Amino acid sequence: MMGLDDRVAVVTGSGQGIGRAIARRLAEAGATVVVNDIGEAAEAVAEEIRAIPRPSLAVVADVSRSEDAASMVDTVVAHYGRVDILVNNAGINRDQLVMRMSDEEWDRVIGVDLRSVFLCTRAALRHMVKQRWGRIINISSVVGVVGNRGQANYAAAKAGVIGFTRTVAKEVASRGITANAIAPGFIDTGMTRALDEDWKQQLKQQIPLGFFGTPQDVAEAVAFLASEEARYVTGQVLGVDGGLAVSWL
Ligand code: NAP
Repeated sequence: MMGLDDRVAVVTGSGQGIGRAIARRLAEAGATVVVNDIGEAAEAVAEEIRAIPRPSLAVVADVSRSEDAASMVDTVVAHYGRVDILVNNAGINRDQLVMRMSDEEWDRVIGVDLRSVFLCTRAALRHMVKQRWGRIINISSVVGVVGNRGQANYAAAKAGVIGFTRTVAKEVASRGITANAIAPGFIDTGMTRALDEDWKQQLKQQIPLGFFGTPQDVAEAVAFLASEEARYVTGQVLGVDGGLAVSWL
């Protein structure tokens, strides 16, 4: 069930954290996985995947840059002849209250968390449309749904990802391509490890299930949306958040 044999997947920002778990999970399901990251970590994850063993290629690229996003997809197609699954996972945060937020803090987060989703999706869709099969899976956040103090740039980007996903779903549905978003809650990664311990305890009390999720929890949802079994699911936002969105709303 949920086999991805012969599928070629690209996971952005997969040198660590949630992206790494997604890349490994898709490979375990049989996909050939292209590991993208802005830094050198991509090669180490590609090696982990080759040890499974599944074919894997590392592509170092800053996906917020138009030329990088386009050449990454070109490299994938040159190597493997197709691109079936795009997981837009790369993301950063630069938290600050709106009144104190700099132009740079705003622009960088919008660039990495939203612009990259457009750039990579545009590049991949050109191939998926010809193949008449594709899966676009965008990693948004519960913060994009409900907002969060100190994260206006991040919340705007992640809410933008949801509007973008629903639009893409409509534009390419007739070509056998689905587009969905995942809205994780608090997941135990480098991004959340930096949070203050007291704050983390307070957050846990607000999560109905009472604990932070793991990268694997998000990876399982991605594996489903990437599969043939999810063929009738498009334009959706799947919360993987321990119930946080319902308790916050
Ligand atoms: P992470 O551990 O910081 O991993 C993100 C990866 O993306 C890093 O390896 C980072 O590389 C890479 N990256 C950053 N900018 C990039 C760029 N311009 N091009 C290519 N790669 C880039 O974060 P994570 O927690 O796994 O988050 C993954 C995604 O899930 C993000 O979109 C995040 O917003 C979302 N999310 C996370 C949580 C959570 O609780 N952790 C909750 C909701 C949503 P460097 O480290 O070298 O910069």
